[in-house]
Amino acid sequence: MGTKTPVAVLGLGLMGGGMAAQLIRKNFDVTVYNRTLQKTHALRDLGAKVAPTPAEAASGAEFILSMVADDDAARSVWLGDNGALSAVAPGSLLIECSTISGAWARELAQLAKARGCEMLDAPVTGTKPHAAAGELLFLVGGSDAALDRARPVLSAMGRGIVHLGPVGSGALVKLINNFVAGVQAVAIGEAIALIERSDLDSAKALSVLTEGAPGSPLVKLISKRMMTRDFEPNFALKLMMKDVHYAIEEARSCSMSLETAMAAARVMHKASEAGLGEKDFSAVIEALRR
Ligand code: NAP
Repeated sequence: MGTKTPVAVLGLGLMGGGMAAQLIRKNFDVTVYNRTLQKTHALRDLGAKVAPTPAEAASGAEFILSMVADDDAARSVWLGDNGALSAVAPGSLLIECSTISGAWARELAQLAKARGCEMLDAPVTGTKPHAAAGELLFLVGGSDAALDRARPVLSAMGRGIVHLGPVGSGALVKLINNFVAGVQAVAIGEAIALIERSDLDSAKALSVLTEGAPGSPLVKLISKRMMTRDFEPNFALKLMMKDVHYAIEEARSCSMSLETAMAAARVMHKASEAGLGEKDFSAVIEALRR
């Protein structure tokens, strides 16, 4: 039996928890860190080592993967007190899977380089059940050589890998993908709210949309949750808002204003102010029903 490859996983939320579990199942030597210790318990029971700090998780790992909320959270696990970057061994590979801004991805890659390491930005599409089942799609930015090294790790958690270009490319495509998803969610939310305010048979009217041209996979899925008011989070509204804002900023840096994203962000803000930020992003419809 060969030696197991040591992988550190920083962040065990809805996504990171499932991803770490897949790595354990696929026979990697997994050490986990999470800010809130309680979320490490299920992984420990599956066979992970638990580290009290990101630095201790990263020390000795060949691959260090982060899956946390946003730029601030990623800064904290890589660069904060006992941050992972202070402990990475030269030659180890950083894999940043969180949905972050392209600017921060490039900054982290530079900091990694100064420590003798390469970095990939590798955000994902798919949601909590896909993470749990090892069926994510990785959108990767970084060098060919780094990606070739990372392939066995990413393949253990996913159904596919798309190499989009240099560091920052994965982050940018992910943000473009999610602003379109966010706009679709708000649009179908408005459509359902309008249907409900009319005398129409809601289910029949909605089926025209979901079975017709507007019926994207996302619209099909999210409209069901909106109709049944099932807002148990697979992807929190506050994180979708974050992605739409990052996309707006990315566009600004290209001298472009994302008008549909800005409109969607306004509706999401309303829902968030109504206390729905921790709910699934399908809960955005509640801002329109009120
Ligand atoms: P989540 O369940 O809210 O988990 C967030 C993780 O980030 C937790 O481990 C949390 O630690 C950690 N965190 C937050 N702020 C932190 C800080 N300041 N310092 C250290 N750790 C911090 O989120 P998720 O759904 O797993 O999403 C993780 C990333 O994947 C996000 O970038 C999200 O946009 C992206 N994503 C999510 C989905 C989805 O469907 N859920 C799909 C694709 C991509 P605690 O446990 O201590 O709070």
